[in-house]
Amino acid sequence: MLSHWQGLGYYSRGRNLLRAAREIMERFDGEIPRDVFVLRKLPGIGPYTAAAVAAFAFDECVPVLDANIIRVVARLANFKKPVSTAAGKSFLEKLARGLLPESGGCIHTSALMDLGAMVCRAGVPDCSACPVHKFCKAERPEKIPAKQPRSVVIHEHDVRGFATRVYSGFGDFSRRGAGDAEKNGFRVYLILSPGPRWRGLWLLPHAKSGGKVLARITFAVTHHRIQMEVVRASPTKCSVSFPIDNLPPMPTPHRKALMRLLEAVAIQA
Ligand code: SF4
Repeated sequence: MLSHWQGLGYYSRGRNLLRAAREIMERFDGEIPRDVFVLRKLPGIGPYTAAAVAAFAFDECVPVLDANIIRVVARLANFKKPVSTAAGKSFLEKLARGLLPESGGCIHTSALMDLGAMVCRAGVPDCSACPVHKFCKAERPEKIPAKQPRSVVIHEHDVRGFATRVYSGFGDFSRRGAGDAEKNGFRVYLILSPGPRWRGLWLLPHAKSGGKVLARITFAVTHHRIQMEVVRASPTKCSVSFPIDNLPPMPTPHRKALMRLLEAVAIQA
């Protein structure tokens, strides 16, 4: 399954989607539950997704707190504290619940989302065109919602190894140049990520720094900024060799680095 998801990122979402689909088939006879609390127990379904599915698919009257609705609700109440804290979320959920109609959850949620997207926009809203202007308590709406200080960026330096082999075709693996790559089957060594980052995907193996850097890639994962360098290396104990035309699912930065290296090998051959 991960091979189909490869390159899209957020791999745990793919895994959870499959687990949720299986659970819906096994526990609910293939019918997606409409109760928001039952939905929340499915793998990968958090409070927002559960509420959005309940409102849009089943017309349930539940508070759906996406970025637009959070902004509208916070401004209506002149809520000046950060909205991303647990206390802020809980307060806004109560406010949003108080605005719910008795029926028509889908249209109510759509209307709030549209209001936030078109009138009560981020930055300076168009209050003169707002249909709920007379109920709004916002004093300085452009300052709401209040932002939380950004989390500190963590810099990481990651050294990975480019270990290869050429399969000679006689049941015998031998280290040779890359000239006969296609004819003889050029293979690269990868390790299976133990997680939590990229669990289930294959990575270039860890290596010691110090050698000539063959490729350098910088990327971000949440608040981590990672500079990955790839050096020539020998296969490690846990690494497994794969033919380059049949690679397993890999996260984008590792696949990108490997492709660069393979292109360089092909040019030199
Ligand atoms: S009056 Fe202004 S701040 Fe208040 S909800 Fe409408 S657009 Fe937003």
